[in-house]
Amino acid sequence: MSACIFCKIIKGDIPAFKLFESERVLAFLDIQPLSRGHALVIPKHHGSKLTDIPDDQLEEILPVAKKLVLATGAINYNILQNNGRLAHQEVDHVHFHMIPKPNGQEGLG
Ligand code: 5GP
Ligand code: ZN
Repeated sequence: MSACIFCKIIKGDIPAFKLFESERVLAFLDIQPLSRGHALVIPKHHGSKLTDIPDDQLEEILPVAKKLVLATGAINYNILQNNGRLAHQEVDHVHFHMIPKPNGQEGLG
């Protein structure tokens, strides 16, 4: 059994608030959100860093992130993807953060 926490979320072995799911992609709310609506978009293919993921497994990621941005109505937002400890990666399964800045509260998050 994989020790990867995000693989466990994909399998349904641990709970997450899922926002979108397809054959290749899962999006869910971050457990420690930096702002309201902070979501993670991940390929179902396990790999630690971006360079470990085949191109075809990445195709849907940004379109899904875009849809989540549009769903929040955020005007200001960050899409982030960390690789390696020195780059602040904590979970070794590729994930894209979608961090909306609440409208009218640009100083928060
Ligand atoms: P990183 O620093 O690796 O780019 O970000 C990892 C993110 O995963 C963090 O924002 C953290 O809150 C989130 N995270 C870690 N464990 C879990 C979990 O079990 N469930 C969810 N939903 N998010 C998690
Ligand atoms: Zn994994």
